[in-house]
Amino acid sequence: MAVFSLSDFADHEQVVFVSDDKSGLKAIIAVHNSNLGPALGGCRMWPYASEEEAVRDVLRLSRGMTYKSAMARLKLGGGKSVIIGNPRTDKTPALLAAFARALEQLNGRYIAAEDSGTSVADMKTMAQFTRHVAGLHDKPSDQGTRSGDPSPATAYGTFIGIQAAVKERLGRDSLDGLRVAVQGVGNVGYDLARQLKEAGAQLWVTDIHREPLVQAGRELGATVVAPDEIFGLDVDVFAPCALGAILNDATIPQLKAKIVAGAANNQLAEARHGVELMKRGILYAPDYVINAGGIIDVYHERIGFERAALIRHIEGIRDNLMEVFERAREEERPTAEVADAIAEERFRR
Ligand code: NAD
Repeated sequence: MAVFSLSDFADHEQVVFVSDDKSGLKAIIAVHNSNLGPALGGCRMWPYASEEEAVRDVLRLSRGMTYKSAMARLKLGGGKSVIIGNPRTDKTPALLAAFARALEQLNGRYIAAEDSGTSVADMKTMAQFTRHVAGLHDKPSDQGTRSGDPSPATAYGTFIGIQAAVKERLGRDSLDGLRVAVQGVGNVGYDLARQLKEAGAQLWVTDIHREPLVQAGRELGATVVAPDEIFGLDVDVFAPCALGAILNDATIPQLKAKIVAGAANNQLAEARHGVELMKRGILYAPDYVINAGGIIDVYHERIGFERAALIRHIEGIRDNLMEVFERAREEERPTAEVADAIAEERFRR
C-alpha cells in the first residue's frame, strides 16, 4: 500500500505504526496537524478487515479532528488512533498498557480519548502508563464531580446550533411551535429532544430500539414514526442523531425540512450531497461545527473545568455557524465547503 499517495494521507504530519508481540498489539497513531496544539482524538478499537482499511480510517478521522477543533477555537490539533482487533475478545490490560507506552513515547504530540471499542475505564488503565489520555471524566474538579459523559454538552451545542439555523433560514428567534424530526434518541438525541420540547417545539422521533421511543412518547409528547418515515415528514428541521452518511441520493429527495441540523458525525455521504441540499434550499448545519460540544467538554476537562467557561465556549457554536451561514449565503457555496475553508484559515494561520 502506497501510504503517502493515499488521498486521505493529505498533509499528515506524522503516522506511527505500533506493534507489540507479547500483547498482540497492532495500532496506528495519526497526527494530522498540530499547529494549534497537541493532536487530540479518539482511540478506536475495531476488527478491521484489512490493514489498508485501518490506515484509511485513522487518516480520515484524524484529519476530521483538526477541522473540528480548529472550528471550535480549541488550542488542539487533530489526531486519531486505531487499535486493530476485536474489543470484546482481544482487549487485555497488557495490550492497553503497550498502547499507552507508545503514547508516552510520542511525548504528548497525540492525546487519546475514548471512542468506539474503548471506554473511560480503558483510558484509566492507560493513564497508569502515560499522561497523554483525556476524558477520564469522573475525575473530581474544583467545582465538584463531573457527570462523566460528553453527550449532554454535545446535545446542548446542537440545540444552540438549531437556534442559529432557525434564525438564518426562517428568520425566527423562538423555537415555539417549531416542528422537528429527530433521528435516533440515544444519549445525544434524547437530551436534544428534551431541550427542544422545553423550548416549545413539536417533535417526531424514530429509533431502532423501542424503549427510548416509548419514553419520548410518554415524557416529551413526541410522535413516534418508523425509521424510514423520518426523512419525508412535513417538518421545519431534520435533526440526524443516529448514524453517518444519511444525507444521500435516496434520502435527500424525500426531505421536506428546510433545515438539517443534528449531532451525527459525517452526515453527508459525499461532498456533492452538500451541493444538492443547497440547490433544494435546505440549510445544512455542518456536522463537525454543530456537534463540537463533546470535544469542547473534553478540552475543558483538561484545562481545568469551570462550568461557566464551558457553557460560554459551547454557546460559541452559534457564532461559528452564523459565520458559516453568512459566508455561504454571500458566496453562494455549500455550507460544508465554507466550514472547511474557515477551519483551514484557523489552523493554517
Ligand atoms: P447513541 O448510540 O447513544 O445513540 C444513537 C441512537 O441512534 C441509538 O438509540 C440507536 O438505536 C439509534 N439508531 C441507530 N441506527 C438507527 C437508524 N437506522 N434509525 C434510527 N435510529 C437509529 O449515540 P450518541 O452518543 O447519542 O451519538 C449520536 C450521534 O452523534 C453519533 O453519530 C455520534 O457519532 C455523534 N456524536 C456524538 C457525540 C457525543 O458526545 N456522544 C459527540 C459528537 C458526535
